[in-house]
Amino acid sequence: MATIPTSAAVSHVGKVRASNQDSGYLGRHLFIVADGMGGHAGGDVASHIAAQRIAEADHPYATPDDAVAALHEALISANGLLAETVFDHNELTGMGTTVSAIARVGDSFALAHIGDSRVYRFRAGELTQMTTDHTFVQRLVESGRITPEEAAVHPRRAVLMRVLGDVDASPEIDTAVLDVKPGDRWLLCSDGLSGYVTEDKITQVLGTIRTAQGAADRLVKESLDHGAPDNVTVLLIDIDDSEGASGSAPIFVGSAAHPLTFGQEEEVRRPIRLPTLLLHPLKAAPPEDAHFEPESESYLDELIEEDRRRAIRRRVLWGVGVGLAAAAIVLAGWLGYRWTQMHYFVGVSDGNVAIFQGVQQSIGPISLSSVYQTTAIAVDDLPAYQRDAVEATISADSLKQALNIVDRLSAAAGN
Ligand code: CA
Repeated sequence: MATIPTSAAVSHVGKVRASNQDSGYLGRHLFIVADGMGGHAGGDVASHIAAQRIAEADHPYATPDDAVAALHEALISANGLLAETVFDHNELTGMGTTVSAIARVGDSFALAHIGDSRVYRFRAGELTQMTTDHTFVQRLVESGRITPEEAAVHPRRAVLMRVLGDVDASPEIDTAVLDVKPGDRWLLCSDGLSGYVTEDKITQVLGTIRTAQGAADRLVKESLDHGAPDNVTVLLIDIDDSEGASGSAPIFVGSAAHPLTFGQEEEVRRPIRLPTLLLHPLKAAPPEDAHFEPESESYLDELIEEDRRRAIRRRVLWGVGVGLAAAAIVLAGWLGYRWTQMHYFVGVSDGNVAIFQGVQQSIGPISLSSVYQTTAIAVDDLPAYQRDAVEATISADSLKQALNIVDRLSAAAGN
């Protein structure tokens, strides 16, 4: 049974970046999001080349497995094309791109995926991420070193372990066949959405805005409302149960929607490229501003070591914080106790009038007073009024005042 996807694609440069390095393709059978990287130049080129090359695989396929094989081949081919481009344009060394692509075959989507763009399925009110992020922090989560919540705010969360680019001739690409049902909404997005808008918010938008275009526009707006520090690209495909092929013309969005002009732009950009960027273009880029692809296992080791140091630092800071809090509590308790010990009162101890140091109150089992001095005055020798007063205790502001009270009681007792 063939159904018509009602779909929309939106790509926005965001509020901080100078150029849009994302590309998207909304085709008849095929849907692609690619998020380019590569410092000052190259990211827009990489996603453009990859999206254009992979879009050539937008055909009807006989089986989902055929489509998976074709997508896999298209991604590998795009990877080769990126390496060739870098060979011809050395200044683009280190450019790369994520790709998340799904091709519709009947009741299935064939998926090919590399990087940290995402494919989500929204079904019966529930949002499910269908792809795994190929990020450094995702590896830390899988190995139990950090929680997903910590990963979401980790300073190295932009570090990518796998992308298409000029680094690896045969990058590892995730593939899958996913079932499709009428009523589903399928969302493809770059991390400019998923990195800044919560899944709860995405769920709410997909659950309330009925048209694909309206929901896609709203998701991009949510990212803009969160400051949109990154490019943001959203593809939304609604699955209904009508028959026939999609009638709408395929469109590109983002970098792939414009002519490729990297040679020209590079002339402008070359002066601001530093020598270190040419040597290690990915490592030299600021962590929150660009994706990374580790060039060697030793780089990965460096990242793991850095994370370990961060974890130790966090534990030490936590320990110091707890220690300071405990010290403050002890100090407050000690000062409070000292304050109580500057007070006196007159009461009864073993039937005789006595001077107590401290206050009458106690904290649980801990008494805040002790006998300072007992006297020879028997309480029973006191007139009724004074006896009642002593039994109820008479407070004194100082030891001297307490001694005066004792003198008066002594007189009253006739001693
Ligand atoms: Ca991005």
